Amino acid sequence: MRYLEPLEAAPAQTFDVALLDLDGVVYRGPDAVAHAPEAIAAARAGGLGVMYVTNNANRPPSTVAAHLTEIGVPTEPEEVTTAAQAAAGLVSSEHAPGTRVLVVGGTGLREALAAEGMTVVRSADDDPAVVVQGFAPEVGWAELTEALLAINAGAEHIASNLDATLPMERGSAIGNGSLVAAVVNATGTMPRSTGKPQPAIFEQAAARAGAERPFVVGDRLDTDLEGARAAGYPGIHVLTGVDLAPALLACVPEQRPTQLAHDLRGLLEPHPAVEQDGLWWCCRGAAARFDSDSGTLIVARGEDHLTLTDGDEVDLDELRAACAAAWDAADRAGVPTVLTRCPQIRVRPDRKDAGAIA
Ligand SMILES: [Mg+2]
Repeated sequence: MRYLEPLEAAPAQTFDVALLDLDGVVYRGPDAVAHAPEAIAAARAGGLGVMYVTNNANRPPSTVAAHLTEIGVPTEPEEVTTAAQAAAGLVSSEHAPGTRVLVVGGTGLREALAAEGMTVVRSADDDPAVVVQGFAPEVGWAELTEALLAINAGAEHIASNLDATLPMERGSAIGNGSLVAAVVNATGTMPRSTGKPQPAIFEQAAARAGAERPFVVGDRLDTDLEGARAAGYPGIHVLTGVDLAPALLACVPEQRPTQLAHDLRGLLEPHPAVEQDGLWWCCRGAAARFDSDSGTLIVARGEDHLTLTDGDEVDLDELRAACAAAWDAADRAGVPTVLTRCPQIRVRPDRKDAGAIA
């Protein structure tokens, strides 16, 4: 069994289009993630196509592209695929142009449905055939009630995405999934969803980019990486966003990435193999194993064997080896993860850029 796939050439040379998540990968709030603008520019200069894929259904592609351009990542609106577009794509694949669609959401969702030729309405009294629900900060009781009235009258319910929370600077905010849950609590029926981790958004993004060998880059295992696996695309996990080393060690099979990187410079570097040697999993000079007696992970440091505990630091190759050890142990035991409590370890930045990563 192989955990984490080696790439002898950099991903930018191996694949043709990168499907990049935005928040936690390219930017964090208003600012660019360290190294992201330079790495994307270098990858594009080498011929890699780029499509940004976001579960944000509120901001239209033109707004997303303008924000990216402002932080030093020049982007055209055609290089952005939103969950709103994915939802509109699903509606137009099943309904004729002119179909009345009740939109519960913002500008991005209304524009995406109009672009597919749908007639956007705001009231259940307009007899919509479909209710499409996406996040917008202004969505409240009145809109949710229109959705309920329309669904009870026979309209189909589609959600742009089901993210329970939305990252904000002050912490987690109510996400679209939580607003959808209010409607579901009243209807008793779950909607179909098109955003990550559903593969539809990645498949539509790859098709729009004309990709033959696409790959996904993300920072969340339960959306980006699970969606990559569902679509059958390789998935690189970067450590600049939501899910860090502890989440990776406990990662369930359907969310495991195929490569790990500190940040988007991982687009430009080969990725090492992780190979089994007896009880140990080895990545270049690093080695790790799972100790089933104590339920802990052990890394080799020269002659010393260090049991990973809270506060320990590992380098990226040690994390790769430790992930393989933990995932292999889970697969052998036939459980999603063997680690009931993950050691809260941190990944050391490369020595050459210590201090460059926040
Ligand atoms: Mg993200």
